[in-house]
Amino acid sequence: MMKIAIEELAGCSGCTIAVLDLHEVILDILNEAEIVYSPVIMDVKEPPDEIDIAFVTGAVRNEENMERLKNIRKKAKTLVALGTCACYGGISGLSMLSSNEEIFNTVYRGVDTVKEDGVIPTDVPPFTYRAFAVGDLVKMDYYITGCPPKEQYLKQIIPALLKGDIAELSRKSVCSECDRKMGSVEGWHLKRRYEGKPDREHCLLGQGYLCLGPVTFGRCNAACPKNNIPCHGCNGPSLDILREPCRDLYNMMVRRISDLTDRPEKEIEKELYDVSHTMYPFTIGSLIMEDKENSKIRDLVQERSR
Ligand code: SF4
Ligand code: SF4
Ligand code: SF4
Repeated sequence: MMKIAIEELAGCSGCTIAVLDLHEVILDILNEAEIVYSPVIMDVKEPPDEIDIAFVTGAVRNEENMERLKNIRKKAKTLVALGTCACYGGISGLSMLSSNEEIFNTVYRGVDTVKEDGVIPTDVPPFTYRAFAVGDLVKMDYYITGCPPKEQYLKQIIPALLKGDIAELSRKSVCSECDRKMGSVEGWHLKRRYEGKPDREHCLLGQGYLCLGPVTFGRCNAACPKNNIPCHGCNGPSLDILREPCRDLYNMMVRRISDLTDRPEKEIEKELYDVSHTMYPFTIGSLIMEDKENSKIRDLVQERSR
């Protein structure tokens, strides 16, 4: 029987819960494999030495995460990044916009229910100097994006992995899964999410809402736009962004909006706001995304940490 492990790094454990959310499919999986280690679902303190497939969820943000990642890489024949935190740093990457002091103040001193005395514990693992996606540090065999990955696709991906196969699934962007009519409204201007109520028929970007569908990997059936909410990019970058070094989330969104509205890119750039949270909320911790020639990530991080 195959031995499966799920390691937790800097994340929210939602990706492990997504595996549990497979409901009865879990029973089929357990016919083929035994879960030998998962801190969220069982009381086993350390992964055993022989593991066939290990899933890693969460990013690397401290020394303990780093050690655990290297350890599981040594023990697992196949290592899979599960979720956008593992694949691209995810929300843990946003911590790079704050100093260590600010983070400790928020997490310990600012929350009465965590530490009444406001004293920061001394046995907390030290931060790494930045957040890392797991593939920035060790060789990964597969990546499954999503915050968390969606049930409908995990149901196909995990059983295929157990057989040593790759599930044949869509590799398109969120836009390609969206049912809205493309085009822009007259007098287009960039709106905040709380401004007005978008109509259900037309493209949200065309109505002025910053929808990251054009630059985001699909496999969520455009869940947010179909519920009248702009996509904020939780599945990570689309394949064309990943493949082309000159394509970045920021510059491709600016180009897309300019094409849609017939307005010069410079004008669009002036209207963009809070770029770290609107363009890179799930990818700011990824070295692959930071190293792109048009990426704004390096400047944004340096600006905030000054
Ligand atoms: S990818 Fe999303 S669901 Fe998974 S650990 Fe990170 S924050 Fe949680
Ligand atoms: S930009 Fe958003 S709303 Fe418009 S088609 Fe793409 S996913 Fe749909
Ligand atoms: S539409 Fe965008 S934000 Fe919503 S689930 Fe899909 S990728 Fe995530």
